[in-house]
Amino acid sequence: MALTDLQRVRREGLSEPIDAVVTRWGGGLPQYAVGHLERIKTVRASIAQVPGLVICGAVMEGVGIPACIASATRAVSELPASPVRMGP
Ligand SMILES: Cc1cc2nc3c(=O)[nH]c(=O)nc-3n(C[C@H](O)[C@H](O)[C@H](O)COP(=O)(O)OP(=O)(O)OC[C@H]3O[C@@H](n4cnc5c(N)ncnc54)[C@H](O)[C@@H]3O)c2cc1C
Repeated sequence: MALTDLQRVRREGLSEPIDAVVTRWGGGLPQYAVGHLERIKTVRASIAQVPGLVICGAVMEGVGIPACIASATRAVSELPASPVRMGP
């Protein structure tokens, strides 16, 4: 498949690769279950009860880097301006 893609973007043909290795990243990405976004809404509502706690990342609303950046930007904007004291 990679060779076919490369051949599409190059004028001259490519020779067959001399070697190929497939690396699978099992568990590398969250696999959302049906109802994930509703679950995340519940998690957000819960987290909002804890001053100074925010969450972000691939577990939230998208696994791609742009989605992770959006999630981090949102988390930072939700942080209080000054540090929150925990405990007595
Ligand atoms: C192989 C692969 C290829 C990908 N390619 C692309 C791509 O081409 N384009 C794209 O948009 N997205 C791609 N992604 C998806 C994207 O990279 C990830 O979804 C994104 O980086 C996840 O960001 P994150 O901050 O949620 O988690 P991570 O980047 O995994 O960050 C979590 C961090 O927390 C740390 N950590 C974990 N446990 C603890 C702990 N107990 N205490 C302290 N620190 C801890 C980890 O060391 C890590 O640094 C790819 C993902 C994989 C696995």
